[in-house]
Amino acid sequence: MDSKIIAEVGAWVGEAQRIVALTGAGISTDSGIPDFRGPQGVWTRNPLAEKMSNIHCYLADAQVRKASWQNRLGSPAWSAQPNPGHLSLVELERAGKLHALITQNIDELHQIAGNSPERVIEVHGSMRRFMCWGCGMRGPMQAVLERVRAGEEDPHCRTCGGILKSDTISFGQQLVPEVIDRAMQAAGQGDLFLAVGSSLQVYPIAGTVEFGPDLAGEAGEDHRAVRAGRQRRHARAPCRGAPD
Ligand SMILES: [Zn+2]
Repeated sequence: MDSKIIAEVGAWVGEAQRIVALTGAGISTDSGIPDFRGPQGVWTRNPLAEKMSNIHCYLADAQVRKASWQNRLGSPAWSAQPNPGHLSLVELERAGKLHALITQNIDELHQIAGNSPERVIEVHGSMRRFMCWGCGMRGPMQAVLERVRAGEEDPHCRTCGGILKSDTISFGQQLVPEVIDRAMQAAGQGDLFLAVGSSLQVYPIAGTVEFGPDLAGEAGEDHRAVRAGRQRRHARAPCRGAPD
């Protein structure tokens, strides 16, 4: 990004009152958490990982689950620390400018960095929690990982016997409508939309960029969208559906 763009975006941030940020895997790669699809991505290097991310394979195949638990044990996310990208979003919140932080990430690095949990909308869930596919119970992931460390290769729910997984949205699994609605609504309430480390290819949440101005209503007269990292998006409403 050249300095002219940085200065321009900096001025937008300075003027904004209600910033909505959307973050994707790209903000966490600097913390050592690999992207799924990038050149060093998990799927690029290990095709089995894609199978482990598929809910149908996961539920049907104990071998896939065993591999998944080993994978979770060794995740670089457990020792990852927030990087300056995360910290800058904490600064925005402390300055009273951050309306909402929508994230596609499951690593909770925003909360660890210091953003308030109530401002973070986790559209793909969190790997730091487990959930039971049978009874829906949720709890801290580390409690289940302890069981794996103690020798259980495919731990099941102690209440109902159901299959356990991380409390994240796997491929083939439905997004949580209430969470998506909340994200879309928040996107429409902002006066500046920052997309950080997201390729904006994963729908429906990438649609917050397009739908933001549509939902903006009274805030819509000056809605701007910025995509940091690769290219800049700048939209001044009324721009209903109009690509920039
Ligand atoms: Zn259960």
